[in-house]
Amino acid sequence: MDNTAVLDKLNGCAVGAAVGDALGMPLEFGSAHPLNSLVCEMTTGRLPAGRFTDDTELALAVAESLTVHRPLDADDLVKRLLKWKRSMPMDIGAHTNMVLTWIAGGMTWQDAAEKVRKEMPATAGNGSIMRAWPVAVAWWQNREQMVKDSELQSIVTHSHPECMKGSAFVNWMIAEMATGATPRAAYESAMQAIDLGAEFCQVVEHAPDANREGLKNSGWVRHTLESSLWALLNTSSFEDALVQVINLGGDTDTAGAVTGALAGAAYGLEAIPTRWVDKLSGEWPLGSGKTWDAHAFVRLVSRLTADGH
Ligand SMILES: [Mg+2]
Repeated sequence: MDNTAVLDKLNGCAVGAAVGDALGMPLEFGSAHPLNSLVCEMTTGRLPAGRFTDDTELALAVAESLTVHRPLDADDLVKRLLKWKRSMPMDIGAHTNMVLTWIAGGMTWQDAAEKVRKEMPATAGNGSIMRAWPVAVAWWQNREQMVKDSELQSIVTHSHPECMKGSAFVNWMIAEMATGATPRAAYESAMQAIDLGAEFCQVVEHAPDANREGLKNSGWVRHTLESSLWALLNTSSFEDALVQVINLGGDTDTAGAVTGALAGAAYGLEAIPTRWVDKLSGEWPLGSGKTWDAHAFVRLVSRLTADGH
């Protein structure tokens, strides 16, 4: 596979993640839409149609950190997460907010990670799996480093092993698909490569055969990966995968972002409907007045994949 083809997949991953976030934005925390009235367009919600949310903002923080430091420097990433929090984002996940508040108050991220593990061992939200894709874009040629940095970007706020392994799992699939694997082959490869732990593994194993009615699509990392795999592996286009996942109700923007990253890597930028690509917008850094469209994500991918690393 030549590099142009790989680049189209990586561009698809980045633009796809942001498009999925924006598609899911107006549907967040609603109930599932019946199959005969699925939402297929970018619509206005709390934000104008096409606007991405915290899922993409945090991914951009990871991405920009990786353009400066490779391998990922957790201290630099944490500084960027704190700067984002100070810029008063419209959305911030409760867990992310709590941990960043501790760190802003003087706790090290290492102590914060330990505190999360000790005091809330059952907390495994989807806040790190949604921002993990830039690591796959940066490290698609180096799986060992990709897995390490996928876990490191998670641990600073989401130290539960399932958050760390879930991030590595998604990125493994992205790298496989970017280099030509089908979604099914990429999924099987990730199942071999990443040890999710017995319970999470069981959820992921059954995800492709899950019943739509049974998908809870909550903010739990297990549910987000389950919904995303279900949508990706039961459809055969970017458009169908995203329409399926954003209509599940629940945490639709995050499931949209994860599915968008996966389906974008599977089918490439060219396969993302232009009516969605054209509407994509957002601001980064918040308060800077810099607006991001699909072209800006493509430029980011070329910085993340630039030679010299
Ligand atoms: Mg969001």
